[in-house]
Amino acid sequence: MIPGHFTYHRPASMADAIKLLSDLGEEARPLAGGHSLIPMMKLRLATPEHLIDLHAVEGLKGIRQEGDNIVIGAMTTQHELLASDVIASSLPILRETALLIADPQVRYRGTIGGNVANGDPGNDMPALMMTLGATYRLEGPDGVREEAAGDFYQGAYFTSLEPGEILTAVSVPAQPPGHGYAYEKLKRKIGDYATAAAAVVLTMSGGKVATCSIGLTNLSETPLLAEDAARAVIGTVLDDASLKRAAEAAITIMSPAGDGRGPVEYRKHVGGIMVERALKRAAARAA
Ligand code: FAD
Repeated sequence: MIPGHFTYHRPASMADAIKLLSDLGEEARPLAGGHSLIPMMKLRLATPEHLIDLHAVEGLKGIRQEGDNIVIGAMTTQHELLASDVIASSLPILRETALLIADPQVRYRGTIGGNVANGDPGNDMPALMMTLGATYRLEGPDGVREEAAGDFYQGAYFTSLEPGEILTAVSVPAQPPGHGYAYEKLKRKIGDYATAAAAVVLTMSGGKVATCSIGLTNLSETPLLAEDAARAVIGTVLDDASLKRAAEAAITIMSPAGDGRGPVEYRKHVGGIMVERALKRAAARAA
């Protein structure tokens, strides 16, 4: 299919990009890698009249350490995440997750900002960002604000981005040395979105789980933080009984759509399995 008619804009500064977005209103959309937006336009599920391409806007790329946080510019591609030594050493789960997104062609163009701002429940980065306690830097006509990833997602393709706002960076707390991590994703075939996926970061102390955070992808209209599931394993040696309790607690908050990836009960069932697998693999990696 061919997208509808649109006007292409390529601002060189953030101020110009924000002004364009504010002046053009609801009919304007930022364009990042285009690997979610353009397919939606081709299907006529999105029909923006103006595309504001962010590629020439200065300062939106790059990965840097700021205190205890890793700050990733919104226009950093998934491929650049994979190539980063900082990500590999401080946030290895981000690397693991990026590798499970689509295929190299998509990863060369698709950006972290587009992935988290899109609001697609099938995108892998949002649940991971919630698991890691990330915050998003949002810049708009009223200035800059920070929003926790956990407060950003309000429904499918519905986020707390205000009119005229652009997500400029993602700030992720560096994880402590020796932490365990795993992103488990069940998909129908290479390159597919998740049928169900779970992200886990944890620390172990004296053979028991000391801290734990669990996120869920594509198991609801929004990414989910499975807090009761995480509580179910803290203080345990991660025996079968606590793994089962965690999976059950996670399943109670899942409400996936029944679709081509399977009926609701199946997706919840495999969602529980993803939680158990991610917990086991994360614990095995923890020092
Ligand atoms: P775009 O498509 O350019 O934008 C997406 C949306 O976000 C648009 O509404 C746009 O206006 C908005 N936006 C973009 N950047 C900003 C910003 N900085 N501030 C505010 N709003 C912004 N993703 C996965 O997570 N997992 C998968 O398994 C997966 N499989 C895929 C398979 C295929 C075949 C394809 C084509 C895509 C797949 N994707 C998958 C999606 C891919 O990761 C996209 O690149 C990503 O979701 C969007 O990033 P983008 O840079 O391409 O954004």
